[in-house]
Amino acid sequence: MFKQQVGVIGMATMGKNLALNIENKGYTVSIFNRTPKNTNEVILNNPNKNIKPYYTLQSFVNSIIQPRRIFIMVKSGKATIEVINCLIKFINKKDIIIDCGNTYYKNSIKINNKLNKMGFYYIGAGISGGEEGALKGPAIMPGGNLKAYKLILPILKKISALYKNEPCVNYIGKNGSGHYVKMIHNGIEYSNMQLISETYFILKKGLNLNNKQINKIFENWNNGELNSYLIEITKNILIKKDKNKKYLIDAISDEANNKGTGKWMCKEALDLKEPLCLITQSVFIRYISNIKKQRLIASKNLIGPKKIYKIKNKINFIKKIQKSLYFSKIISYAQGFSQLSKASKKYKWNLNFSNIAKIFRSGCIIRAKLLQNIINSYIKNPNIENILLTKYFINITNNYQNSLRDVITFSIQLGIPTPVFNASITYYDSYRCSNLSTNLIQAQRDYFGAHTYKRVDKNGIYHTKWIK
Ligand code: NDP
Repeated sequence: MFKQQVGVIGMATMGKNLALNIENKGYTVSIFNRTPKNTNEVILNNPNKNIKPYYTLQSFVNSIIQPRRIFIMVKSGKATIEVINCLIKFINKKDIIIDCGNTYYKNSIKINNKLNKMGFYYIGAGISGGEEGALKGPAIMPGGNLKAYKLILPILKKISALYKNEPCVNYIGKNGSGHYVKMIHNGIEYSNMQLISETYFILKKGLNLNNKQINKIFENWNNGELNSYLIEITKNILIKKDKNKKYLIDAISDEANNKGTGKWMCKEALDLKEPLCLITQSVFIRYISNIKKQRLIASKNLIGPKKIYKIKNKINFIKKIQKSLYFSKIISYAQGFSQLSKASKKYKWNLNFSNIAKIFRSGCIIRAKLLQNIINSYIKNPNIENILLTKYFINITNNYQNSLRDVITFSIQLGIPTPVFNASITYYDSYRCSNLSTNLIQAQRDYFGAHTYKRVDKNGIYHTKWIK
């Protein structure tokens, strides 16, 4: 029987496009999907491709050259685990399973350990880029057995996005590290999307600009330091019209969904004691967006401020909004990478942060010009705890922080919700504060619970009898 070089399981949006991407790069591909109809559709819609459909997992496995390279791109969680548990009944030792779904990194660690013990290889590879990325070249974040990674590297290099001819794929580290980095990527994605949405709202509600005017502003910003995929798609979204020739954005409900990767990152931040306030707020605002019924009642009963704040020089103020967005984007990447740094220590992954930032430069949702500055900072000093302490970011944040204060003041005066801009300046002010108000927290804890405290003027641990 003529066998295929690669297998792909899962023929929904991502798997189908990944299979086509692999085939386009010269590989023969076997495909399998739980529901045969979707497998058939791929074959019908893509004739004359070196893609062969299989309708049982066993025949699919038998159709692939050993050692097998099998990409899994199915619903994350239970579905992925079920597929892997079925797959291991048919595969042989040294076969490589590449799990490209958004698997929770703790599951990735468990699966990796289980499969390694059985003699199989498992690569937990975060993939970003959506439908287009999967087809034309995603950013790939593979973690797991280094030997297995080396065996699949030629394929990964061919199918990944390119940044100036450099493939956007790099070995992340052991076991769950690839999926962990993908989780961080998604968290940063949440906060960047929210910051852009807040910016849009200030321009719309605060400065009364229309969609076309806001589109032009984003277009202009996209030519400078804010250049990024998310700014690019936002400018396109703003001028898209529906069948009735009306702006589609104005007809879209504000209830924002999520698939949980942002929440995972926040839960992990709490465990690591990482102050991840931007991304946490980005998740919370999606939850607030979903209590629509309550918000409709509240909108009729809870009043906001009277509009008392008018902007005299709109052009100048739009520049301040631009600076606020860049400033806050920096804080969001800084928090993401800081969490990554803590996780690297906790799990002994020995992550290379400049290489990780390099992966994000093309193909993925958070690709942005800003990443080059992050890479430069980590190349200069791979051990920095927070990029905010490096020269480029010190200069920018020092220069831009006042703009954000003005923009937030304006939004608060008008009652425009900007939770992530607010979180951004609050984090910045807390981070740069050498003496926080938390001395009082320590006193209160000692007062009611004898939890003790340290003093600023001498060493040691103290307890006071607060009541005589
Ligand atoms: P979905 O996450 O919607 O998953 C659908 C696929 O999973 C279908 O092939 C479906 O098969 C299969 N599936 C669901 N349950 C089972 C099960 N119990 N057993 C076997 N197969 C099952 O598809 P996407 O293409 O959007 O995403 C695939 C993976 O890629 C997910 O893990 C997702 O998190 C990740 N991802 C998605 C991105 C995106 O932009 N969509 C971006 C990056 C990663 P069937 O047709 O039979 O229902």
